[in-house]
Amino acid sequence: MLDAPSAQPTTSPAQKALLKLGLRRDIDLALHLPLRYEDETRIARLADAREGDTLQIEATVTACEVSFRPRRQLLVTVDDGSDTCLLRFFNFYPSQQKALAVGARIRVRGEVRGGFGGLTMMHPSFRAAGGELPTALTPVYPTVAGLPQAYLRKAVLGGLAHADLSDTLPAPALPGSCENLSEIGPKPLWSLRESLSFLHHPTPDVALATLEDHSHPAWQRLKAEELLAQQLSQLQAKRAREHLRAPALRPQRGGLHEQLLAVLPFALTRAQHRVSEEIARDLAQAVPMHRLLQGDVGSGKTVVAALAAAICIDAGWQCALMAPTEILAEQHFRKLIGWLEPLLAPLRLRTAWLTGSQKAKERREMLALIESGEAALVIGTHAVIQDKVVFKRLALAIIDEQHRFGVAQRLALRSKANSAPGAVHVPAPTPALPRAGEGEPQREPHLLMMTATPIPRTLAMSYYADLEVSTLDELPPGRTPVITKLVHESRRDEVIERIRAQLAQGRQVYWVCPLIEESEALDLVNATQTHAALSEALAGARMNGGKATMVGLLHSRMPVAEKRAVMALFTGGQMGVLVSTTVIEVGVDVLNASLMVIEHAERFGLSQLHQLRGRVGRGAAASACVLLYSTGEAPRLGETARARLKAMVETSDGFEIARRDLEIRGPGEFLGARQSGAPLLRFADLALDADLLDWARNLAPQMLDQHPELADKHVQRWLGGRAEYLKA
Ligand code: ADP
Ligand code: MG
Repeated sequence: MLDAPSAQPTTSPAQKALLKLGLRRDIDLALHLPLRYEDETRIARLADAREGDTLQIEATVTACEVSFRPRRQLLVTVDDGSDTCLLRFFNFYPSQQKALAVGARIRVRGEVRGGFGGLTMMHPSFRAAGGELPTALTPVYPTVAGLPQAYLRKAVLGGLAHADLSDTLPAPALPGSCENLSEIGPKPLWSLRESLSFLHHPTPDVALATLEDHSHPAWQRLKAEELLAQQLSQLQAKRAREHLRAPALRPQRGGLHEQLLAVLPFALTRAQHRVSEEIARDLAQAVPMHRLLQGDVGSGKTVVAALAAAICIDAGWQCALMAPTEILAEQHFRKLIGWLEPLLAPLRLRTAWLTGSQKAKERREMLALIESGEAALVIGTHAVIQDKVVFKRLALAIIDEQHRFGVAQRLALRSKANSAPGAVHVPAPTPALPRAGEGEPQREPHLLMMTATPIPRTLAMSYYADLEVSTLDELPPGRTPVITKLVHESRRDEVIERIRAQLAQGRQVYWVCPLIEESEALDLVNATQTHAALSEALAGARMNGGKATMVGLLHSRMPVAEKRAVMALFTGGQMGVLVSTTVIEVGVDVLNASLMVIEHAERFGLSQLHQLRGRVGRGAAASACVLLYSTGEAPRLGETARARLKAMVETSDGFEIARRDLEIRGPGEFLGARQSGAPLLRFADLALDADLLDWARNLAPQMLDQHPELADKHVQRWLGGRAEYLKA
């Protein structure tokens, strides 16, 4: 029943819950592994019980009464011959009360508590005594509301019985198969079938610790399989992309790209040179680029993007740049326009700007410019990927802060290359683009994704195995290191004094308010209050020895025009302090800002703190970041919060921060939008299973070459339809 999507429409809540867990096919159920186990294989003696043990006993009911103090409850005393135990039930049905009548023999299972009155169990499960004992441990599965364990156990059993569990790993004995698989692979190599039946129903003699820490050979096999599936699907996606076509964009001598270099107010860093060349090499190919540009905050990714755009435009194509927020997009727009527009004007090319908040008339004009191809460079927010936007000849799509976009959005942007009716038939300016016609490969733009959150190596090798990665590992010269201080909330006044001093020197200050997860409205209240308090505290402060200082407020709920006005004052240097919630734009670039105060820093993630800190120290002035923390009611900070703040003080290296963040939080956060849809590793742990990852990386290409059908089957089995997402 579970295998056929065409079967009866599912209606029962439990079935719906199964689907919610992604348990659609038999194999999905078979791969739904227990969180832990209960040992129902033996009957214990109460006399041997220790506080906190979960026990199964068989005993006779010696007393059963309903008590009303302190609240209505059923109190049942049982005796197993070795000792007695009091069972307490707060919710009970008459039928249960009947089953627990004095004299009944019952099998009870629950956690034992000690105490003055002797042993007790709260809400134990029970049934009539007798009957066979199971021979295997009882699995407890991860579940959701509305899906009882008993139902899930049955479903999993069914899945296990019906799923095709034949081996997909090529047998070492097969001629032409991967050599010595069993030697490089997880040892000893259990078969998938053996591993699964064992993990669902382990024999009671197993060392539970090896199941818990996943070191058991059965776990090893599953983790190896999972990593292999991930590697295979990424490799497949990569190879599939190699069959797609993109316009080959070659930089012209003396072209836009060189002109841009000549007008830039600075020289490129070595790192910027290197990554620009890596990108240029990709763009010159007739295969779509799929490259991630990672570089710490302030490492200068924008100019690298501009150079790529210049090559694209010079070759006669359009380039689109998408940023996650309007302020960020606008900043890009201004910067790129400043650099490129003077160079585009003589070519009679324009730039276009697209956002959600735009007036209809302006938007219509922009859309027309884009559709006619007159706009060579299109910058904006999500508005860029809306259906109405039709590019005449899009060849390069750039996504800033890529982790803030979803898979679907990336796919949408890529599909824009084919959005113009008949776009494929536009005469290609480069001979490398194959002619339209039969067997015409699909055309896609080159894709450049940018991120300020560096990806630790293990993640790069697993989740991002299908991407090329360029790294800006050097900051532009002239930056002064930012000094980071941890300051307890009780010393807020000192911090305000410090702000006053900065303002007196003509410097500007950011004050970031904490994110309150439960409620955006609370964020707002908080930011508004802080703004009021700071305005009052700094009422007499002066900036540049003259005009009264302004404290501005920026938050996500403000109308865009208002946001823009506040930003303009701050960037223009007419506002001393900018109070904001974090939603505010990661990428703002105000060189004169030299102090960043982060309130309730303990509530922020490490990468987030690092990105925020990157807003200061961009100019030559000595800069500081104050992490104001509070322990609330607790005597001290929690462990992970402490680890984060400590990391912030100890290092400013984005890669080191990323590594520690991965340690503290696990991979989920890093992957950002990539995780929506893309399967996270469920079983393997990149920090612990590096050897299995290596094994999977080695095996995947061999398997794709030599056993493509097995590879397909393996990916299908593990990822089902979800493999699609990895192609984004
Ligand atoms: P990010 O990588 O965080 O997006 P930006 O591209 O915004 O960084 O660059 C940060 C600042 O550094 C900007 O003001 C930019 O103009 C400046 N910048 C970029 N490259 C250089 C360079 N090679 N030399 C000096 N300043 C640079
Ligand atoms: Mg940036």
